[in-house]
Amino acid sequence: MNKNIFIPMAFSACPKDCFDSCSIITENDKGLRIRGNPMHPITSGFLCYKAKFFVDAALSEKRLKKPLLREGKRGKFREVTLEYALDVVVEKIKEIINDCGGECILPVEYAGNRALISYYFPRRFFNRIGSSVLQHSLCDEAGSAALRTLLGTSVGMDPEDLRKMRMIVFWGINPAWTNVHGWRLAKTSNAKIYVVDPTRTDTARGADVHIDPRPGTDIPLVLSILNVLSNYGIDAKEIGDIVLRYTPEYASKITGVDASRIRDFALDLLNERPFAVHIGYGFQRNIKGGLAVKTIAYMMHLLGMDGNFIYDAKHGIDYVYLGGTARGRIINQVNLARELERNDIRMLFVYNMNPLNSLPNQNLLREVIERKNIFMVVHDLFLNDTALFADVVIPAASFFEFNDLVDSYYHDYIAINQKVMAPPGEAISNHDLFVLLSRKMGFREHYLFEGEDEIMDKVLNDLNVNRDELYRKGFARIRRVRGELIFNPEGLREEIESYSPIEREGYLRLLSPTGIHGVGSQHDNIHGFDIFAHMNPSDALNLNLNDGDRVVIKNEYGTVETFLKIDPSVKIGTIIIYRGSWPSLHGWNVNYLTTDDVQEYSMGAAMNSTFVKVEKVRDV
Ligand code: SF4
Repeated sequence: MNKNIFIPMAFSACPKDCFDSCSIITENDKGLRIRGNPMHPITSGFLCYKAKFFVDAALSEKRLKKPLLREGKRGKFREVTLEYALDVVVEKIKEIINDCGGECILPVEYAGNRALISYYFPRRFFNRIGSSVLQHSLCDEAGSAALRTLLGTSVGMDPEDLRKMRMIVFWGINPAWTNVHGWRLAKTSNAKIYVVDPTRTDTARGADVHIDPRPGTDIPLVLSILNVLSNYGIDAKEIGDIVLRYTPEYASKITGVDASRIRDFALDLLNERPFAVHIGYGFQRNIKGGLAVKTIAYMMHLLGMDGNFIYDAKHGIDYVYLGGTARGRIINQVNLARELERNDIRMLFVYNMNPLNSLPNQNLLREVIERKNIFMVVHDLFLNDTALFADVVIPAASFFEFNDLVDSYYHDYIAINQKVMAPPGEAISNHDLFVLLSRKMGFREHYLFEGEDEIMDKVLNDLNVNRDELYRKGFARIRRVRGELIFNPEGLREEIESYSPIEREGYLRLLSPTGIHGVGSQHDNIHGFDIFAHMNPSDALNLNLNDGDRVVIKNEYGTVETFLKIDPSVKIGTIIIYRGSWPSLHGWNVNYLTTDDVQEYSMGAAMNSTFVKVEKVRDV
């Protein structure tokens, strides 16, 4: 590896867990500077607010430069060489495999770095040792599974076709913060914009119409729309006469949305065709969230708009080639603490994720790891919450420090990420780390040592990407693979009949959306996140609370203390705490309160079905 690499100008590709997957022009002549690639049809020459932290993070003095080895209590370390750290890791892996097999090792990874090689290449190593496999279920998976049962796919429309729509509905997503280029596409189109969200977000403020159902009541909202549409020849015959019950007046009592607004929404859906629905992930993280997604898709089908949803994208990338085939035991991600209690897992190998921040029910997760004395290896740029719990910490490279490709789960472009500088100290990319580990394990298979260039060539060949275009523009268009939609409403009626709204007397529903500053937990240590509890003035009045009060928030999962922000944008009956803040900086985050109950679909997350009590902290 050339440690002195310095490239004055290159194309980067944002590998964060974000719809937009931006192509970036990076200059490194007078310091590291980035800007949106003006040639990219989605990036359109600008980056989001969060992007300014990428450079700060990459150049931060807080970055890990040397591996760390735990000394005594968790959180106490001494610096060691990379060579030594990897010897310790390999010795432990061999010991565990000898004792109880590869399945006692669990890679804990997610979308902290979505670049293709960084994301998939480590899996070759874990498949080689026969490790357990983490079932991703924290984000969009329940909705994906639900869409597949109804339509045969979760792959939706090309977002560039939003420009052809007469109406665009953002359902449970705040693109003004989390999909800024999609928001721009919508705002620069001639379409009427609807937002369905309990919270009056910046997106809701910028829309033509804001529908604000109580959280977890999207299903009755859709049923009432179908009730209205039944008067106009739209027959929801697959779900029987249940829609007759859901008159707008009846649904209004459940959803909190005025009956007249439900009628207007239904008529706009009928008359403003073609319309598109960007189905967000937020409302889908409810105990019936997958079913809510499916019900929306069913309504779209009845209106002849089956294919006009945005949820996921696929492009014929050979993921089996990239990561290999997993055969190990499946461990679910959302309720990892309970999985660790049930299963003999002796090592967690964490990369591309900060699970001791982002998973629900943090108290139990930390307690189980401690009680079972699970050995933890963490590969990260910073000494984050998870790294502080580790036995071995290995410093990771930022995306300015490796070559890779970034695809998108939203649009139809693949972008190149070119290395513009060397990682600091002994920081190392995912690819190089797992090559070294394979070598130390004594493995010989070529696929464990395949170089970045070789892998990129194969991926680009498969996609028929013109290299000249890619290196000249930083990105190339690739073909969306969706296949035919196969409508299958089997069981939908029974599923919908099983729905009932959940409430808890004397509790507020806790929502934990993404804040404006971060992507997941990234950047709290660079910029600082909003850690207030946001509450509607009406609830604050009922609870005798004032702006700035110190409050205790509690439920069966935990108790936290923070300050109250009276916020009229918050729906009555709910409280918002933005996710991603670091417990190691603040002593807590929202996941000390969130439920690790799972949905039927894909054992998906249901964090937005959490309820809490809020009280003022009394002076003693
Ligand atoms: S976080 Fe999203 S919008 Fe921001 S630069 Fe990355 S891909 Fe673009």
